[in-house]
Amino acid sequence: MDNCIFCKIIAGEIPSKKVYEDDKIFVFHDINPIAPVHILFLPKIHMESLNDINSSNMELEYVSHIIGKIPEIAKTLGLSDGYRTIINTGKDGGQSVNHLHVHVAGGKKLPWFLE
Ligand code: AMP
Repeated sequence: MDNCIFCKIIAGEIPSKKVYEDDKIFVFHDINPIAPVHILFLPKIHMESLNDINSSNMELEYVSHIIGKIPEIAKTLGLSDGYRTIINTGKDGGQSVNHLHVHVAGGKKLPWFLE
């Protein structure tokens, strides 16, 4: 999508610290980490938020693929003691970039509420 910063990151038009990529997803380090390790998992097709998902659409396949890859990638980054997964949705959910993404944060014991 034209004006989407995360689409531009996926396309390599904006630089990022890439962790992993395959045909469906792109994973990179958050520019403003809330924990020692903080990465973002993006679907490679543009979808605004979790509200674009339903139980049988194609978008769901991308999100399931993300969920399926999280343990493997968390392991490669040394998150053996666990991590937090977060999907902010919409204004009240604190979503600031309107391309669905899953945050994975860890590397220390996290408080329930993150600053
Ligand atoms: P959210 O508030 O859930 O929409 O999360 C958006 C996240 O994207 C925030 O944690 C930002 O720090 C992160 N972010 C925004 N722009 C960039 C960028 N150019 N590179 C890496 N992370 C970014």
